[in-house]
Amino acid sequence: MNQPNEVVVPAREGRGVYVDEGQMLDIVDLEGRQVGDLIAWFRNDPSEYLSPTHTVSCNASIALGTGSQVFSNRRNPVFTIVRDDVERHDIIVPCCDHERFERDYGLDDHGHCLGNLEQGRDLLGEDFDLAGEMAWNVFMHNRVTDEGGVVTDPAAHEAGATITLRAHEDLVVLLSSCPQDLTPCNDFNPTAMLMRVRDEQPEGRDS
Ligand SMILES: [Zn+2]
Repeated sequence: MNQPNEVVVPAREGRGVYVDEGQMLDIVDLEGRQVGDLIAWFRNDPSEYLSPTHTVSCNASIALGTGSQVFSNRRNPVFTIVRDDVERHDIIVPCCDHERFERDYGLDDHGHCLGNLEQGRDLLGEDFDLAGEMAWNVFMHNRVTDEGGVVTDPAAHEAGATITLRAHEDLVVLLSSCPQDLTPCNDFNPTAMLMRVRDEQPEGRDS
Protein backbone atom coordinates (compact mmCIF):
# COMPACT_ATOMS: atom_id res chain seq x y z
CA MET A 1 0.00 0.00 0.00
CA ASN A 2 1.12 3.56 -0.64
CA GLN A 3 1.69 4.93 2.85
CA PRO A 4 4.58 6.20 4.99
CA ASN A 5 6.69 3.44 6.56
CA GLU A 6 6.33 5.12 9.93
CA VAL A 7 3.22 6.69 11.41
CA VAL A 8 3.40 8.58 14.70
CA VAL A 9 0.31 8.21 16.85
CA PRO A 10 0.26 11.49 18.80
CA ALA A 11 -0.61 11.49 22.49
CA ARG A 12 -4.38 11.09 23.00
CA GLU A 13 -4.99 10.38 19.29
CA GLY A 14 -5.45 7.45 16.91
CA ARG A 15 -3.97 6.50 13.55
CA GLY A 16 -4.17 3.57 11.13
CA VAL A 17 -1.92 1.66 8.75
CA TYR A 18 -2.26 -1.06 6.15
CA VAL A 19 -0.14 -4.17 6.72
CA ASP A 20 0.31 -6.88 4.10
CA GLU A 21 0.51 -10.60 4.83
CA GLY A 22 4.09 -11.42 5.85
CA GLN A 23 5.00 -7.85 6.74
CA MET A 24 6.15 -6.78 10.16
CA LEU A 25 4.47 -4.15 12.28
CA ASP A 26 6.59 -2.55 15.00
CA ILE A 27 4.72 -0.71 17.72
CA VAL A 28 7.09 1.53 19.64
CA ASP A 29 6.40 3.39 22.86
CA LEU A 30 8.35 6.57 22.19
CA GLU A 31 8.50 7.99 25.71
CA GLY A 32 7.73 4.98 27.92
CA ARG A 33 4.90 3.82 30.20
CA GLN A 34 2.29 4.23 27.48
CA VAL A 35 -0.46 1.81 26.44
CA GLY A 36 -1.72 1.44 22.85
CA ASP A 37 -5.15 0.06 22.03
CA LEU A 38 -5.13 -1.92 18.79
CA ILE A 39 -7.95 -3.01 16.48
CA ALA A 40 -7.34 -4.94 13.24
CA TRP A 41 -9.51 -6.46 10.55
CA PHE A 42 -9.01 -8.41 7.33
CA ARG A 43 -8.90 -6.24 4.22
CA ASN A 44 -10.48 -8.92 2.03
CA ASP A 45 -13.29 -9.67 4.50
CA PRO A 46 -13.99 -7.12 7.25
CA SER A 47 -16.36 -9.57 8.94
CA GLU A 48 -13.19 -11.23 10.24
CA TYR A 49 -11.21 -9.25 12.79
CA LEU A 50 -8.79 -9.59 15.68
CA SER A 51 -10.69 -10.94 18.67
CA PRO A 52 -9.21 -10.78 22.18
CA THR A 53 -11.71 -13.30 23.57
CA HIS A 54 -10.99 -15.84 20.82
CA THR A 55 -7.29 -15.28 21.48
CA VAL A 56 -7.82 -16.20 25.13
CA SER A 57 -9.70 -19.32 24.06
CA CYS A 58 -7.19 -20.41 21.38
CA ASN A 59 -4.22 -19.90 23.68
CA ALA A 60 -6.00 -21.11 26.85
CA SER A 61 -4.28 -18.15 28.47
CA ILE A 62 -4.64 -14.43 29.03
CA ALA A 63 -0.86 -13.97 28.74
CA LEU A 64 0.89 -12.88 25.54
CA GLY A 65 4.60 -12.63 24.81
CA THR A 66 7.26 -13.44 22.25
CA GLY A 67 6.10 -16.41 20.18
CA SER A 68 2.42 -16.00 21.02
CA GLN A 69 -0.24 -15.73 18.35
CA VAL A 70 -3.23 -13.42 18.33
CA PHE A 71 -6.39 -14.80 16.71
CA SER A 72 -9.46 -13.67 14.79
CA ASN A 73 -13.13 -14.17 15.56
CA ARG A 74 -12.87 -17.24 13.28
CA ARG A 75 -9.84 -18.54 15.17
CA ASN A 76 -7.36 -17.86 12.39
CA PRO A 77 -4.00 -16.35 13.38
CA VAL A 78 -3.86 -12.59 12.82
CA PHE A 79 -0.39 -11.88 14.21
CA THR A 80 2.57 -13.77 15.56
CA ILE A 81 4.53 -11.80 18.15
CA VAL A 82 8.15 -12.05 17.03
CA ARG A 83 9.58 -9.54 19.49
CA ASP A 84 8.09 -8.27 22.73
CA ASP A 85 10.13 -6.06 25.05
CA VAL A 86 7.30 -5.75 27.56
CA GLU A 87 5.32 -9.03 27.67
CA ARG A 88 2.59 -7.37 29.70
CA HIS A 89 -0.69 -6.81 27.84
CA ASP A 90 -4.40 -6.88 28.49
CA ILE A 91 -6.86 -8.89 26.40
CA ILE A 92 -9.75 -9.08 28.86
CA VAL A 93 -11.14 -5.54 29.14
CA PRO A 94 -12.43 -3.29 26.33
CA CYS A 95 -10.67 -0.08 25.38
CA CYS A 96 -11.72 3.07 27.22
CA ASP A 97 -14.79 4.82 25.83
CA HIS A 98 -17.06 7.77 26.51
CA GLU A 99 -19.10 5.80 29.02
CA ARG A 100 -15.99 4.80 30.98
CA PHE A 101 -15.22 8.42 31.79
CA GLU A 102 -18.81 9.55 32.18
CA ARG A 103 -19.94 6.68 34.38
CA ASP A 104 -16.82 6.25 36.50
CA TYR A 105 -15.52 9.82 36.73
CA GLY A 106 -18.48 12.07 35.86
CA LEU A 107 -16.55 13.46 32.88
CA ASP A 108 -18.53 14.14 29.73
CA ASP A 109 -15.72 15.44 27.51
CA HIS A 110 -12.67 13.27 28.25
CA GLY A 111 -10.90 11.74 25.26
CA HIS A 112 -11.09 7.94 24.91
CA CYS A 113 -9.54 5.15 22.88
CA LEU A 114 -12.72 4.23 21.02
CA GLY A 115 -12.96 7.79 19.69
CA ASN A 116 -9.25 7.76 18.84
CA LEU A 117 -9.65 4.52 16.93
CA GLU A 118 -12.58 6.02 15.02
CA GLN A 119 -10.31 8.97 14.21
CA GLY A 120 -7.64 6.59 12.86
CA ARG A 121 -10.25 4.74 10.79
CA ASP A 122 -11.66 7.97 9.38
CA LEU A 123 -8.19 9.32 8.48
CA LEU A 124 -7.66 6.15 6.41
CA GLY A 125 -11.07 6.60 4.79
CA GLU A 126 -12.15 3.16 5.94
CA ASP A 127 -15.68 2.09 6.80
CA PHE A 128 -15.82 -0.37 9.68
CA ASP A 129 -17.98 -0.53 12.80
CA LEU A 130 -15.62 -0.44 15.78
CA ALA A 131 -16.46 -1.91 19.17
CA GLY A 132 -14.42 -1.57 22.34
CA GLU A 133 -14.26 -5.31 22.93
CA MET A 134 -12.30 -5.71 19.66
CA ALA A 135 -9.33 -3.88 21.19
CA TRP A 136 -6.12 -5.51 22.31
CA ASN A 137 -4.62 -3.30 25.02
CA VAL A 138 -0.95 -3.46 24.07
CA PHE A 139 1.48 -2.92 26.99
CA MET A 140 -1.38 -2.51 29.50
CA HIS A 141 -0.25 -3.90 32.84
CA ASN A 142 -3.52 -5.45 33.96
CA ARG A 143 -3.34 -8.40 36.30
CA VAL A 144 -5.93 -10.87 37.59
CA THR A 145 -5.63 -11.58 41.30
CA ASP A 146 -6.17 -14.97 42.95
CA GLU A 147 -9.63 -13.71 43.96
CA GLY A 148 -10.49 -12.78 40.37
CA GLY A 149 -9.99 -9.04 40.70
CA VAL A 150 -8.57 -7.08 37.78
CA VAL A 151 -5.84 -4.68 38.88
CA THR A 152 -4.14 -2.06 36.69
CA ASP A 153 -0.50 -1.94 37.67
CA PRO A 154 1.57 1.09 36.72
CA ALA A 155 3.13 0.60 33.32
CA ALA A 156 6.82 0.01 33.96
CA HIS A 157 8.38 -0.15 30.49
CA GLU A 158 10.81 2.49 29.28
CA ALA A 159 11.07 4.67 26.17
CA GLY A 160 11.70 2.66 23.03
CA ALA A 161 9.91 -0.46 24.25
CA THR A 162 8.78 -2.33 21.14
CA ILE A 163 6.50 -5.16 20.11
CA THR A 164 6.90 -6.61 16.60
CA LEU A 165 3.99 -8.42 14.97
CA ARG A 166 4.16 -10.55 11.82
CA ALA A 167 0.88 -10.27 9.91
CA HIS A 168 -0.82 -13.48 8.72
CA GLU A 169 -3.29 -11.62 6.50
CA ASP A 170 -3.65 -8.32 4.66
CA LEU A 171 -4.89 -6.11 7.46
CA VAL A 172 -6.12 -2.68 8.41
CA VAL A 173 -4.62 -1.85 11.81
CA LEU A 174 -5.65 1.03 14.08
CA LEU A 175 -3.80 2.16 17.18
CA SER A 176 -4.85 4.61 19.89
CA SER A 177 -2.35 6.27 22.21
CA CYS A 178 -4.57 5.72 25.23
CA PRO A 179 -5.61 9.04 26.85
CA GLN A 180 -6.40 7.51 30.25
CA ASP A 181 -4.77 9.87 32.75
CA LEU A 182 -6.77 8.99 35.85
CA THR A 183 -5.25 5.54 36.55
CA PRO A 184 -1.64 4.25 36.54
CA CYS A 185 -2.36 2.77 33.07
CA ASN A 186 -0.19 5.39 31.30
CA ASP A 187 1.62 6.63 34.40
CA PHE A 188 -0.94 9.51 34.51
CA ASN A 189 0.80 11.07 31.50
CA PRO A 190 -0.40 9.98 28.02
CA THR A 191 2.32 10.22 25.36
CA ALA A 192 2.88 9.35 21.71
CA MET A 193 3.54 5.98 20.07
CA LEU A 194 4.84 4.90 16.66
CA MET A 195 3.76 2.29 14.12
CA ARG A 196 6.37 1.09 11.61
CA VAL A 197 5.45 -1.23 8.74
CA ARG A 198 8.32 -3.07 7.08
CA ASP A 199 9.28 -6.16 5.18
CA GLU A 200 11.05 -8.82 7.16
CA GLN A 201 14.83 -8.46 6.99
CA PRO A 202 17.20 -11.37 7.51
CA GLU A 203 18.91 -11.21 10.89
CA GLY A 204 22.03 -9.05 10.96
CA ARG A 205 21.43 -7.27 7.67
CA ASP A 206 21.01 -3.58 7.43
CA SER A 207 17.76 -2.48 5.87
ZN1 LIG B 1 -7.72 3.97 26.50
